[in-house]
Amino acid sequence: MAEGRTVRSICVFCGSRPGGDPAFAAGAAALGAAIAKRGFTLVYGGAKVGLMGVLANAALAEGGRVVGVIPKGLVSKEIAHEGLTELYLTESMNDRKERMVLLSDAFISMPGGWGTYDELFEVLTLAQIGFHDKPSAFLNVNGYFDPLLALLHHTIVHGFAAPQHEQLYVAAADAEELIDALVAWAPPPLGDRLLDRRAVVAEKK
Ligand code: AMP
Repeated sequence: MAEGRTVRSICVFCGSRPGGDPAFAAGAAALGAAIAKRGFTLVYGGAKVGLMGVLANAALAEGGRVVGVIPKGLVSKEIAHEGLTELYLTESMNDRKERMVLLSDAFISMPGGWGTYDELFEVLTLAQIGFHDKPSAFLNVNGYFDPLLALLHHTIVHGFAAPQHEQLYVAAADAEELIDALVAWAPPPLGDRLLDRRAVVAEKK
């Protein structure tokens, strides 16, 4: 990590469905357990369904601290988890994402759907323009993120993102290896195009 920063809480974005490969649920269980065993707080979308539920239950089973963040309007649809350490209810989807960013020191995306993509791109684009300097990671279970990682690279090849933006994230297929990479991560120099709005984010806290 950057000088003077430590990772205490890790936010995980993942599917509200289990997906079609049992390896996805196994990956969610391994990640939830690894986060808890290492003493990190798990921050996630607060639901009981899909990979989200598997992830949270695995962390709780290891005695981990699990914080959910869910919009009021989704409490019944995604079935809010009642057994969490803390559950924040937000007014909107945007409030949820903002709260998750503020509560977390690092972000891991697991296989998921378009909601997961929305969340991971929110965090990556905020890092790209300097709203935060926290690392992102892809738990690339069975190559699920290979097309997305290729698309991110394609963006750089075609000049719509800078080469150093590829250093804003790490990827690995194994949960322990991925957490090691997150903890070792240091922010890349982002250069003159960076809009330094960290002060704005700090004010909001
Ligand atoms: P999915 O990957 O589509 O299963 O969704 C994963 C999570 O993303 C769920 O908790 C959804 O509520 C959330 N989500 C879905 N659509 C959006 C959106 N437009 N903005 C933010 N979060 C979303």
